[in-house]
Amino acid sequence: MSENKPVEFSRGVEKVAIIGAGLGGLAAAIALRKQGIDAQVYEKARELRPVGAGLTLFPNGLNSLDAIEPGTVESLKRAGSQTRVVNLKKSTGELIIPNRITLAEKYGQPMLNIRWSRLQEILASAVPADAIHLNCRCIGFEQNDSGVEVFFEGGNTVRADLLVGADGINSAVRQALIGDGAPRYAGRMSWRAVLQYSHELLSPDQVTIMTGGGKNMMLIDTGGGYIFWSTGALSEEDSVCQSAAEVKSRVLQEFAGWGEPVRAIVEATDAGSIVERPIWDRPPVLNWSKGRVTLLGDAAHPVVPSLGHAPSIEAALSSYENSRTQRTQVIQARSAFVGARSYDADSDTFLRGVAEQAQASQPEFEDWLYRYNPSVIS
Ligand SMILES: Cc1cc2nc3c(=O)[nH]c(=O)nc-3n(C[C@H](O)[C@H](O)[C@H](O)COP(=O)(O)OP(=O)(O)OC[C@H]3O[C@@H](n4cnc5c(N)ncnc54)[C@H](O)[C@@H]3O)c2cc1C
Repeated sequence: MSENKPVEFSRGVEKVAIIGAGLGGLAAAIALRKQGIDAQVYEKARELRPVGAGLTLFPNGLNSLDAIEPGTVESLKRAGSQTRVVNLKKSTGELIIPNRITLAEKYGQPMLNIRWSRLQEILASAVPADAIHLNCRCIGFEQNDSGVEVFFEGGNTVRADLLVGADGINSAVRQALIGDGAPRYAGRMSWRAVLQYSHELLSPDQVTIMTGGGKNMMLIDTGGGYIFWSTGALSEEDSVCQSAAEVKSRVLQEFAGWGEPVRAIVEATDAGSIVERPIWDRPPVLNWSKGRVTLLGDAAHPVVPSLGHAPSIEAALSSYENSRTQRTQVIQARSAFVGARSYDADSDTFLRGVAEQAQASQPEFEDWLYRYNPSVIS
């Protein structure tokens, strides 16, 4: 879409059912409710409980949250930690290159790390508790000219003017809408955990990335005394371990011989809190809306979208897709390429090149990515 003007989205939409109380679903609920729309969130989990993950937010994500709910970013800054240097190291611990992060100076927002569950809590606190329905697993929907009926496991149904599938990479709404099957295995396994921990090699304003032999380990301070570690290793099989103890010993085995603090931090992690997942992705698609149903976030593509205004629901959803497809495809393609190359045998040389390019600042890509103004549809 070439016009830079907002389009009326709310006309004809009074009630929106959002499937998934993840980051995308909650952010969308806040944004829609601020427009006076009755957005209700349906989540399959019985409770919103901490998951073993941390998250890094960059200026584009923070600007999106700021546009949706001013004040959120300040809460996140208080709860999280800001990165000033990313240290790229060999698996032995030898420093390859320190990459100074200047996003705050250039784009007015930092590189901010936070526990996934704190971010979810902060977003959930901006939605009335009675608009978040737990223990509701969506299994399908039917739509016609007058509305959409959403079906949940156990026989419950709800009716809405619009259905938003924000139910993640294994989205049930996507299967009913697009039906393109399971996501594809990217040939890598990941393990991650969050724990209260400190180590002399880990400073709150520094992220450490260690790389070598087709494996990577990232160590991030997520504020409040918590550290997030996240690893990936090439693996032909996407099979997962049968017990928590097996998961922990697999990680210790995968990273045996790595420089500190890798062994110390994995040893200090409670086995039950380590999350083991195959890495999946999906090839980009051009459309993820039909009639009164659309997708958002990982269900559609890997970035948080913004909704605008239009004369009809279909026109609004089409304008939402048009405003996101090119941007999300570039990011998906670039991520997939860097992700795959980061596990090659020469990952340290490749990542050093990426870091050096970043220091030279790849100005056009960085500007395009971080100067994004979520309140203007382009
Ligand atoms: C290892 C790892 C590290 C990452 N690091 C970063 C990072 O640093 N920065 C970043 O920006 N992104 C990161 N990401 C990606 C980020 O986590 C996702 O893009 C983001 O969580 C997607 O949000 P979402 O709301 O679309 O989906 P999700 O967060 O997956 O939320 C989906 C929600 O839907 C619920 N749900 C699923 N199915 C149903 C159903 N049938 N009915 C009802 N509810 C359902 C789920 O329980 C869940 O609560 C990372 C991802 C991984 C795997």
